[in-house]
Amino acid sequence: MDRTMTPRMELGRFRLTTLRDGFFRLDGGSMFGVIPRALWEGLKPPDDRNRIRLGLNCLLVETGDERILVEAGLGGKLDERQRDLYGLEEGPRLPEKLGELGLEPEDVDAVILSHLHLDHCGWATREGEKGWEPLFPRARYLVQEREWDAALSPDRRSRASYDPRDFLALEEAGLLELVRGDAEVFPGVRVRLTGGHTPGHQVVILDSDGRGCVFLGDLVPTFAHLRVTWHMGWDLFPLELMRVKEEVLREAEERGQLLFFAHEDTDPLARLVGGRLLPLTA
Ligand SMILES: [Zn+2]
Repeated sequence: MDRTMTPRMELGRFRLTTLRDGFFRLDGGSMFGVIPRALWEGLKPPDDRNRIRLGLNCLLVETGDERILVEAGLGGKLDERQRDLYGLEEGPRLPEKLGELGLEPEDVDAVILSHLHLDHCGWATREGEKGWEPLFPRARYLVQEREWDAALSPDRRSRASYDPRDFLALEEAGLLELVRGDAEVFPGVRVRLTGGHTPGHQVVILDSDGRGCVFLGDLVPTFAHLRVTWHMGWDLFPLELMRVKEEVLREAEERGQLLFFAHEDTDPLARLVGGRLLPLTA
């Protein structure tokens, strides 16, 4: 498999490009919550530290009018110890992947963040001469208001998952745009507040000329999390997550929408047919 690929595809009038910030590893047990290892290890084989490999998948949506980046990867803030702990591979390199498309950070009009955990908004900012500043200087950064509040005063269980360096500078620079609930943020680009994983987690739903795609964020992180009851140990509201996940997946199948998986370590796009996933290979 060519891991350096940058698959592009058309979705109606939109052009979609998968941008992978790299791979990292998290504890397999935590990734599957109460599901026993004997059931998941065949799907996601763990390494000798019981970690499974995950993608850090971002999606560039070019609508013809705007360039919208969905998700901002893990970023470059990890120190040596953390890089080892998270088994970082081939990254972080989101800006480099944009560069390969001939794009500079100034070319991005909006950044939509599913939530503010550090593996989803790492490249929202960079360290400049005067401290942390938005990496995308012209972009509107769209975050659910509930997620913003949760990240600013995290509960004791979530504190380690948020890094204020990733997001405080967005508000200071006047680029933060808080969304309340479901909204169409650009023509054909909707966000849906799902909660479940975090209080303000959202998915992004694209629709162009009758063709659709759902960016699932951490609602369904990998292909192996398709079963409604298979979810991560970090999810704060598991029953809410299961209810919304079931609904989002059912609607996607009924409407023939593609699914984009933020942490799948193979090609992250797939389609649901008869309750089964058909991966789309580039
Ligand atoms: Zn998360």
